Amino acid sequence: MAIHMKGSEVIPPMEQALAREIESLRLSGVTPRLAVVRLGARPDDLAYERSLLRRCGAMGIDCKIAACPPEVSQQALCALLEKLNRDREVHGILLMRPLPAHMDETAVKAVVSPRKDVDCISPEHTAKVFAGDPSGLAPCTAEAVVNLLKHYGVELRGRRVTVVGRSLVVGRPLSMLLLAADATVTLCHSKTDGLADICRGAEILCAAAGRAKLLTEDCLSPGQIVVDIGIHAAEDGSLCGDVDFAAADRVAAMVTPVRDGVGAVTSMVLAEHVVRCARRLAEQATEEAQP
Ligand code: NAP
Repeated sequence: MAIHMKGSEVIPPMEQALAREIESLRLSGVTPRLAVVRLGARPDDLAYERSLLRRCGAMGIDCKIAACPPEVSQQALCALLEKLNRDREVHGILLMRPLPAHMDETAVKAVVSPRKDVDCISPEHTAKVFAGDPSGLAPCTAEAVVNLLKHYGVELRGRRVTVVGRSLVVGRPLSMLLLAADATVTLCHSKTDGLADICRGAEILCAAAGRAKLLTEDCLSPGQIVVDIGIHAAEDGSLCGDVDFAAADRVAAMVTPVRDGVGAVTSMVLAEHVVRCARRLAEQATEEAQP
């Protein structure tokens, strides 16, 4: 049986460090506050929102939800985001995506101030992450994967890592973070030839394809470290990932479970990003107040 890399084991040290940060902000009169902008009520968004409310509530981060009808106009959504950009009491903005088809997602994402962008949707943070500039805040899920591997002592330098999935939300930025940690990265997608061979040849395999159990036993090799980012809910309430977990558990050295894996760490990374934004905004306000 493989070692299970559990989110619940990664979170406590992150929580302790963040609690100290939040306390120091509080002493300077700042309560970190996150605004979540949600369109409609997709079950995935609601589940993420619940986990954020739990996480932020436990850490002493205020969280306000701005729920809009799915048919809201792009103009009205941009006006809401601009209002949140100006609101001095709000330090982080999370826009749930994908946006409805009637919106130009690139244009809307560009409206969110980089100062409050906690999930790397603004062009400024994306450019920084792709340039290897650590002042850029990466998408929370991509950063959660790297945190999880580091917590379990997985050396990335020089290791062959395959990432399956090239979305801007997960696969691509994750590849950049792994590259910044000196891994040798192969990025696969739906047009990749010989996916199973490439996956088998990896020492570390990260699955973010959004296809339930896409990576079967023929994609795995003994001793491999498998990170499953996919989350798929069946009608009976059970969850599975992009990897056949039973096969990975048999073959690999280490694997992330779906329920207590990457997703659990993602909301913790988001809380960290809110606090980093609050800290930067507070420092900036102090600088501006100086004569
Ligand atoms: P996405 O936007 O649908 O992107 C999927 C990527 O996988 C695309 O690049 C696609 O290739 C590739 N792909 C699809 N089928 C493939 C195949 N048969 N072989 C190889 N590559 C294939 O999905 P996403 O937003 O990145 O999310 C990926 C997964 O992560 C989903 O299951 C999602 O639920 C999960 N997720 C988890 C968290 C978390 O916190 N744990 C957060 C976000 C997402 P093309 O580019 O060629 O189409």
